[in-house]
Amino acid sequence: MVLDHIIPVSAGGETVAENLCLSCVSCNSFKLNFQTGFDTESQRETRLFHPRSDSWHEHFSWSDDSSEIVGVSAIGRATVNRLKMNQPIMLIARREWKKTGSHPPPGVDFGSKSME
Ligand SMILES: [Zn+2]
Repeated sequence: MVLDHIIPVSAGGETVAENLCLSCVSCNSFKLNFQTGFDTESQRETRLFHPRSDSWHEHFSWSDDSSEIVGVSAIGRATVNRLKMNQPIMLIARREWKKTGSHPPPGVDFGSKSME
């Protein structure tokens, strides 16, 4: 995992806790300095999921076999697209993790709404 600036430094994002999140190397390598992704349903550029203020379950779910992350909102779909969250290597990894019982993660919700 790496530390990601949610709002990129190049866009004025500060290196403060409220603007940092943990990201896997793969997602981080595709997020780069982007703050939007393409939502295939609305055909619009849409802001990315904000891991500190958005609720994971409002924007994503798992496929039936838990191998794919499914965007269930414009923000979710745009984020899955931008971060290429369902690359073949990730599907293989999730299937292997599932065999060991370590996937899907329980109660994935890092947004502030989970702390209410
Ligand atoms: Zn990732």
